[in-house]
Amino acid sequence: MERPKRGLYIGRFQPFHNGHLEAIKYVLEQVDELIIGIGSIQDSHGIKNPFTAGERHYMIQSALIEAGIPHEKFYIISIPDIDRNAVWLAHVRTLCPPFDIVYSNNQLVARLTKEYGETAQLATIPFFNRVSYSATVVRRRLLEGEKWEDLVPPAVTRIIKEINGLKRIRDIDASEGDLF
Ligand code: NAD
Repeated sequence: MERPKRGLYIGRFQPFHNGHLEAIKYVLEQVDELIIGIGSIQDSHGIKNPFTAGERHYMIQSALIEAGIPHEKFYIISIPDIDRNAVWLAHVRTLCPPFDIVYSNNQLVARLTKEYGETAQLATIPFFNRVSYSATVVRRRLLEGEKWEDLVPPAVTRIIKEINGLKRIRDIDASEGDLF
């Protein structure tokens, strides 16, 4: 039996924003099912990686359901970083259902897919409002008290408020300094 055509889209999602959501909608037009890999799951409570893997999973799943994307179309998988880039894609394969295409604009992910992807192809994603739909911009606005809510799906706004993310980011910045 032929299996569904499956894509992999990996990111840190710190936090999940409207550009990520548009990217997922775009990829879902190309494949039957999508694996959303939450990368760097070991990192949280830092200025560049403020949210835990569980919080990011909560954001992504809530935003996709809110956007009307059927649950059977996606898998959300947590992927810890490893020290050896050359075997990273093999490591990802051990954690995910089989996939045919890796969708990424990240240069390292692209290089590792080209060199070690075996049968998996690489595809890029169009950037959606790259200037504002950027996790760095969202984190900076959260920190500086600027309006950030229009850059993320409503579910993510609710979750950041629910987990008191604003206070966390400001507390981290006070202890780490401005490391953007
Ligand atoms: P990210 O959240 O910054 O971005 C995720 C994806 O969305 C990227 O392809 C990015 O280009 C795309 N994107 C961002 N804004 C967009 C927009 N406005 N419109 C369209 N697309 C947009 O995550 P990332 O840093 O790219 O995540 C890569 C992950 O892979 C990291 O967790 C990294 O640690 C992991 N990784 C690990 C290893 C290892 O462990 N050795 C090796 C390679 C990669």
